[in-house]
This record gives sequence, structure tokens and C-alpha cells, in this order.
Amino acid sequence: MAVVSVRRIDFGYFVRPAEETGTGAARVEPCLGYVVGHPQGMILFDTGMGAHPGVDARYRPRRIGLRKALRVIGAEIADIGLAANCHLHFDHCGGNPALGSIPVFVQAAELDAARRTPDYTLPELIEGSRFEPITGQVELLPGVLLMPTPGHTDGHQSLIVRRPDGVVIVAGQSHDTATQYAADQLAWRAHRDAHGEPLPDIPNWISALQQLNPRMVYFAHDRSVWIR
Ligand SMILES: [Zn+2]
Repeated sequence: MAVVSVRRIDFGYFVRPAEETGTGAARVEPCLGYVVGHPQGMILFDTGMGAHPGVDARYRPRRIGLRKALRVIGAEIADIGLAANCHLHFDHCGGNPALGSIPVFVQAAELDAARRTPDYTLPELIEGSRFEPITGQVELLPGVLLMPTPGHTDGHQSLIVRRPDGVVIVAGQSHDTATQYAADQLAWRAHRDAHGEPLPDIPNWISALQQLNPRMVYFAHDRSVWIR
């Protein structure tokens, strides 16, 4: 098995306003992307925060652009062979227009929603991308797959990376935090063990993810990582 690396890149942070956090207080959230080093090419998962006066007023982002974020890990846009977005909200596809002709893999349902739903995202980010719409699970390169993980949006997807020491998953915004994922993963175990009701509901894709026995799960808005 070819050794495939997963590295995190930092796109800065934004402040989620109190009315969106459910806690009554504003919350500062990181915006993180991931770069997969593969013998057949580099894959970029998420591209950072787009800029717009309305978005900037609401979320007060402290942005690190795609070029600068890549430079920190010694990479540049020309090194990227393939890209993907977990979903198409403004904080996940902000650097897409800078990718030029590099193909960007998204779920067709996500692209459709982004094109049809008013205020879904920043339209200029969508128009400026060379999208490759896909449906369901697709292998991008040997051992690297995209898998639908809907919930945050209907077309949300995660990146699955098979490594010799186990599967690493980049789960984007499938959960806001590693802790929320940990709760769903444990609830899945309780369901599997027929532990008896009441048990919390969990997304139906959690089961498919657990079949991969992931060793590590990364997220877009939490620096914390879930570890088996
Ligand atoms: Zn987000």
C-alpha cells in the first residue's frame, strides 16, 4: 500500500454569532482544510473562506488565503492535482476560483443546492470553479475516496484515506466538533450491541463509516481530533 499522508492547513477563524451557537454566546471557530499527499498526486480538501461584505459583517473572519495556507506546509497551488469540497458554504470553497483548471469534486446534490438556493453560498465561488459532480462514493485515487455524509447539508461528503496504519477520515462539517462525533460513534456502538432503547438517533451513514474502522477523524471547524 502506498504511503499516503494527511496534513492540515489553517485558513484562519471566524466568530459565529450568538444567535447561531445555541449557547447564547458567540463562538470563535477555526476554518481548516486538509492536504492528502499521494504518489499519484496531491489532493486538497476544502479551500478556505470566501470574502463578501455581508459575510464579513456577520462572521468577522480572520482569513488566511489558500496560497498562504499552502505555503506553511511547503506546498503551492501548482502542486495540487485534484480538489474537493465537503460542501459549498462560503467557508469551505473560498479558494476554489484560485484553483483554475484543477477539477473540484463535489456531490451533484450539493452543487445543485448551491446553484438553486438563494443565499446558500457566494455565487462567484461557484461560477469560478471547475466542478466534477459525483453521486455517492467515488475513489479519487487508489485508497482515497469521497463518501456522502449528509446532515449539515444534503450533499455533504467526507474524505476517506486508507493508510497502512489504518483509515483516516476527514469528516468536514459532518459534525461541528470531534466531541459530537464521539457521541454519535458511541451511540452507534450501543445500537450495534442492541443495548436497548432509549438510545439517541444517529445519522444512517455512521454505520458505513464504522465498517472502515477509522483510526482517526478530522474536522473542518474543530482542531480536536477523534482517535480510536
Ligand atoms: Zn462551515
